[in-house]
Amino acid sequence: MSLAEKIIEALNKGMITIYEREKEEHPKIIGKYHPSSIGECIKKQYYDFYLARMPTTEKLAIFATGRGIHEIIAEILENSNVVKVEAKELETKLDFGEAMLSGRVDVIVADVEGEKIIIEVKSTSQSIKEPYKRHILQIQSYLHALNVQKGIILYWDKRRGVRTTFEVEKNDELLSILKERTLSLHNYIKNKIEPPREAVIEKDFLQCINCEYLQECRPLKLDVEDESELAIFELDNIIFNTNKRMEMTLKELNLDPNVNFKQLDKDLKEKIFNVYYSDKYINFDEPIHENINKALELYMQNKKIVIITNRPPHMEKCTSEQLMEIGLPYEAIFFRNSHFKGINFKSLIVNLLISSGYKIFEIFDEYSVTEKIKKRIKNDIKK
Ligand code: SF4
Repeated sequence: MSLAEKIIEALNKGMITIYEREKEEHPKIIGKYHPSSIGECIKKQYYDFYLARMPTTEKLAIFATGRGIHEIIAEILENSNVVKVEAKELETKLDFGEAMLSGRVDVIVADVEGEKIIIEVKSTSQSIKEPYKRHILQIQSYLHALNVQKGIILYWDKRRGVRTTFEVEKNDELLSILKERTLSLHNYIKNKIEPPREAVIEKDFLQCINCEYLQECRPLKLDVEDESELAIFELDNIIFNTNKRMEMTLKELNLDPNVNFKQLDKDLKEKIFNVYYSDKYINFDEPIHENINKALELYMQNKKIVIITNRPPHMEKCTSEQLMEIGLPYEAIFFRNSHFKGINFKSLIVNLLISSGYKIFEIFDEYSVTEKIKKRIKNDIKK
């Protein structure tokens, strides 16, 4: 073994030892659940309790990065002369009667000009427009357990160095939700009943792709035979020509029909897409018969049609009416939510479909998009 390989081995061993030690320090007890996980998918927490799968060494390395960022932020704040850090790690307990949230958590308790606040640090690789619901619940559990009025969720973008903060107030309605979640989790665990796929129901697909239990859960299980082959389609400019929708959008905003998008500022682009991605001018879309026929042909060959579109979720109703009009049968449709860029969203869904036991037959999207997705997927696409 080379010296370089020895170092990798040492890193892996070290991470596994720390993981095992922490696992021993936090034995699983029915009725006692961890406050830092309560906002996560209930099904994942159930699997964590009963299967407790060891994360891969890649995941352990990601956890280690998160911890490192937590440590360094506490140190940075301590050196700011603005904030006084009172604690970086604390024991918390929220008792809901039949079950409780209890355990040691990594959280920064700080004093800002005489006001005590809690700072929950999340490392991320993407821009964050609003905090994740699971992170809000997590910080609420700390605010209530430690009886602190205000908290900050800090997203630290480790790729671009952007820091985004959201202020959170201790909230009694969210305390009721925490109680409900804790008792519901307890009920599933006590009775050994598998909970529903909460992250999928909430369309929090990022949580799924990072989940250790993809194999057991099959998050995007469809109502088709296992190992079915899927043909993935985008709608805009693949199934429907949307040039006229865009033309009408630009006209409404008094913009040149040949406007160069690359030269537009962010706000104007947002205005354009708010109109374009609405039902306002959808009736101007024209079916692309060649591609619709291709989809129908594949359907007849027993390929399953799945739509992954850049359209936002609020276009669901007008989209399903539009698809009904052209008579295109499909097994599932996924609308991009605003957390994601198109490519990231499409690659994520394709990977989750593969993890759920399906093969990808072909992707029908803009050439450059298809190529990028193919590069990011876990198995080979036929053809
Ligand atoms: S794959 Fe998704 S839905 Fe399934 S347990 Fe994990 S997070 Fe929950």
